[in-house]
Amino acid sequence: MDRKTFIKSVSLLSISSQMMSLNSLFNLVTDHKIEKPLPIIFLGHGSPMNAIEKNEFTDGWSHLAEHLENVKAILCVSAHWKTKGTYITGMKLPKTIHDFGGFPQVLYDVQYPAPGDPELAMEIQQHFKDHILIDHDWGLDHGCWSVLMHIFPKANVPVLQLSLDYRKDPEYHYQLAKKLTELRRKGVLIVGSGNMVHNLRALNWTEGSGGYDWAVEANEKFKELINKQDHVALTQYSKLGKAVQNAVPTPEHYLPLLYVLGMRDKNETAYFFNDKTMMGSISMTSVAFGLN
Ligand code: ZN
Repeated sequence: MDRKTFIKSVSLLSISSQMMSLNSLFNLVTDHKIEKPLPIIFLGHGSPMNAIEKNEFTDGWSHLAEHLENVKAILCVSAHWKTKGTYITGMKLPKTIHDFGGFPQVLYDVQYPAPGDPELAMEIQQHFKDHILIDHDWGLDHGCWSVLMHIFPKANVPVLQLSLDYRKDPEYHYQLAKKLTELRRKGVLIVGSGNMVHNLRALNWTEGSGGYDWAVEANEKFKELINKQDHVALTQYSKLGKAVQNAVPTPEHYLPLLYVLGMRDKNETAYFFNDKTMMGSISMTSVAFGLN
């Protein structure tokens, strides 16, 4: 039985049996899981222009597609959707949001017409008993579509976004991700989109500039801790010293990484790609777990 058919049958069941809690419904659905969990991926997205360029980073994203099978839906946690409370997009046809300024018109003309998955959104909302609310206004921001258009250029896989509750501490985001882990076994590809090192105030606009010493140091530190599976240190990143404090002056581009780490199985080793610091204070470093 595929997921949609199963969800429908579960809905009928719930009408006939009020005894069944929403929680057990979710467990029922997850009992029908696929054997191998889908990969989880953190992508350093960088400039919105990457959406329409072909470069070493977009090549890295495109290459991922070769390792992804049985993707029924994508749940994207983007740095660019911050809310009071946690929301999941629930519309049938999420709009393409051009949430940036000062770029060429050709970038504003881009559309990424992937459908949504209202049933999945509702299922998640019910499982979390209203801790995750359904949103009907957002859509897909550039943290999401600028990378997905290189991995799923046909835009034929449903995409949902999960927002970042800006009031919560990093531990909250990490723990929330843990509770979403079962989605991996239901054909949902989890994509966190941000930048591990992201300090726009310190940008160096000199052509071809690499990373500042502190940016390189922070990038190496993050990779080292990811390899060591030291998720406690990565969650408490503000204690990691000056380089990391410079690298993460605000949390939103770093937090999507914690969602991916929260869903990581202990046996999964890290596959790093696009591992590069640039413009002084940005790293494009991306990491995947559980790739085929
Ligand atoms: Zn961004």
